[in-house]
Formats: sequence, structure tokens, C-alpha cells
Amino acid sequence: MFFQNQKCIALISVHGDPAAEIGKEEAGGQNVYIRQVGEALSRQGWQVDMYTRRADPDQPKIVQHTPTCRTIWISAGPKMFIPRDELFEYLPTFVQGFLKFQRQSGYPYRVVHTNYWLSSWVGMQLKKVLPVSQVHTYHSLGAVKYQSIPTVPLIASTRLDVEKMCLETAEQIVATSPQEKEHMRSLVSTKGNIDIIPCGTDVHHFGSVSREAARHTLGIDSDEKVILYVGRFDPRKGIETLVQAVAQSQVRQHQRVRLIIGGGSRPGESDGRERERIEGIVAELGLSDITHFPGRLNPKTDLPTYYAAADVSVVPSHYEPFGLVAVEAMACRTPVIASNVGGLQFTVRSEATGLLVPPKDEAAFAAAIDRILMNPTWQRVLGLAARQHVEASEPLSRQAHHRKLDTVEKASWPTYISQKFY
Ligand code: UDP
Repeated sequence: MFFQNQKCIALISVHGDPAAEIGKEEAGGQNVYIRQVGEALSRQGWQVDMYTRRADPDQPKIVQHTPTCRTIWISAGPKMFIPRDELFEYLPTFVQGFLKFQRQSGYPYRVVHTNYWLSSWVGMQLKKVLPVSQVHTYHSLGAVKYQSIPTVPLIASTRLDVEKMCLETAEQIVATSPQEKEHMRSLVSTKGNIDIIPCGTDVHHFGSVSREAARHTLGIDSDEKVILYVGRFDPRKGIETLVQAVAQSQVRQHQRVRLIIGGGSRPGESDGRERERIEGIVAELGLSDITHFPGRLNPKTDLPTYYAAADVSVVPSHYEPFGLVAVEAMACRTPVIASNVGGLQFTVRSEATGLLVPPKDEAAFAAAIDRILMNPTWQRVLGLAARQHVEASEPLSRQAHHRKLDTVEKASWPTYISQKFY
């Protein structure tokens, strides 16, 4: 039931379905972020509608996550997976679908929180016809991404234009790290209202399993050294660097080592091809016996156990706007070795909660793995500090997000009333 004074928000994520199975191609950090923000806002008294594109004909129209938080699928384009670079042409239909749903059974939103550039375009169209303020999180910036890939897609110039327009016109931009804000300023525009709100995680869920219980569940001996990767199979995630680093590491000469590479993939799709490529490198380097590919790890039932069982979690990405995996592992008292890039530079405190090393540098990753795995006392100290760091920052992140939306929501009231939305 809707109450007149209830705060209503639409979270829009055209390609990152908040109800999706995480760990498959294109389902990763953005999906987790939106679901967590949505559920957290719902606990704080908001009515939350999360809109995403229907990518499967069997999806229902709506799924209710909590009494005040639901996912709504809008039909726009073929009801199948479409890579995000090919979605722009379906956005006008998405806007029409949103407005139709909103008129029939949606709530009187005062804020739309858009995610990724595709949704930012949707938000800018909605602002033309609805009295809403726009909050936007980029998740990835074209201006940064296109620096690191050999051929830019056809959609690149449209994306760059939309990202600039959104930065300059949205009421509030959320950057998830100081580096992301700096990139927006130096590469996109000097105009726009940006605040930094790092991502948090569920510190009760991540950190709920002890190392002993986790190893018992997974059948891993207590003296085995476990190196863990969690994430999508994508060349930009740098899994190859990790595999090469494990091959070079000295610790293998003294200890039994297990490398776990967790994440979903679909045969024949781009993530399936990347997994095959990685399996090929593992075999070439003679690491097949010690390397395990458990497939997609369920975030509710598997992930806290895998993180807790690991001696070190490695995030070898070439670039990472935030990097949720690092925070989740740290919450489970597992030190993190990460590339010294993007948001990871701020999440991982080098020498205190893990180690930061240059991206794509196999020798540096190997040395970091050796340093931590050959010094179990230091490893435990790093792990405990990692947990404390996440525990201390998580409530700040949640409160900051809530406060920011509250401010935007209050600021949007005058427009709302003057436009007689009710
Ligand atoms: N994830 C998962 N199961 C898997 C692999 C990944 O639940 O098998 C989750 C992981 O816990 C994290 C998200 O997917 O919450 C990945 O987010 P991250 O920011 O690290 O990377 P992105 O996918 O955004 O590139």
C-alpha cells in the first residue's frame, strides 16, 4: 500500500538485471550494487522499483524482493541476451514501457537513480516528461574504457556524448572512488555535481563462516595454500596474469598450493571462450592438477565459504572502477592482492589489508603471493585488518548513499508539487 508521504524511487538498470543470477556474462558488480542499494533503501523506508530490460521471455513482469522493493522487467527489443554495446536502439521503447507501467501501476517517483550510460539516457528522457531528479552511477566510463581497448565499438561516440550530457545535467553523480571522480573531471567534463560514495557489502553475510568450517565444507586440508579468484571470465579481468604468477611463485616449491578460479561461463559465448583460453594456459603451464574451476559461485550459499577458505584473494584486473570482490573477500578476513588501478587502490590498503601491484605484472603478482603465503602470521594480521577496515567503512557508505538520496529527494519536492503530480 502506498502512503502519501512515502519516498518513492525508481532504480534503472537497463542491462544489469538486479534479480539476475550473478557470475555469468555481464552479470556482476552492477547487478549486485543495484540489488543491495534497492534492498537497503527499502529497509530505510523507501518504496523501491528497480527497472530492467526483459532478456528472457519466461521472466515474469514483476518479482517482489521485499514488501517495498521489486524488480520490473520492461520489454524493449528481442527477449534474449543482447550485448550492452547493441542496446542503444531499444532505449526509446524502454522509455515508453517505463512510462506505461508507471502510469498504470508505478509509484510517483521523485528520484530516478540510473546506472551505466544506457540508463543515464533513459533517465534524461524521463526528466523531460516526469518531475523527477536524476542520480547517476556510471559503473564504467567510456573515456577510460576506450583508452585500454585496441578497437572502439561503433557506439563509442554516442556513449561519450551521453556520458558528458549526464554528468553536466544530473542533479547528483555518484562516483564510487576518488579515481573515478578524477577521471570524470579530467576526461569527461569540469561541470556537474559529483560525490564519492564507495560501495559497501553485507558484513554479516560475508564473514559469517570460519576458515576451519569453510575448509571442512570444501574438503581442503588445513595446510594447503589456497589462492582464489572470483569474477567474470573476461580478458580485462587479468586471470591470465594470475595463472602466470602462480606458475612463477616460489611458494609452490615448499607448500601444497591450490588455485581456485570461480565464476560462471557459457560454452560458445565470450565468457565461455575466455574460460577455455584460461584452461589452455593452465594446461600449458602444467598447473592443471592444482587448478580448480568450480563454475559460478552462488553469492548466498557458496561465496562466504570460498572467501573464508582462501589464504589470499587475487583481483588482477587491468582496470576496475570499484571491485566488489575485493571488499567481499576482505570482509571474510582474507587479504587481497589487487592491481593498483581504479577503485582497488582505495579499497585495498597496501601492506595493511593486502598488497597492491602493477596490473599485468606477473612477476609482481608472484612476489606478492609468495610474501603473503610464506608468512602465515602476517597473513592473519592482514586478514583481521581487512575485516576491520570493511566493518568501519561499510556503515559510512550505506549512510552516505541514503543521505544523498534523501537530500536529492527533498530538493525535488518543490518541482513535484508545482507540477501537481498527484
Ligand atoms: N560473483 C558471484 N559469483 C561468481 C562470480 C562473481 O556472485 O561466480 C559476484 C561477486 O561476488 C561480486 C560481483 O559478482 O559481487 C562482481 O563484482 P565486481 O565489482 O568484482 O566485478 P564486475 O562484475 O562489476 O566487473
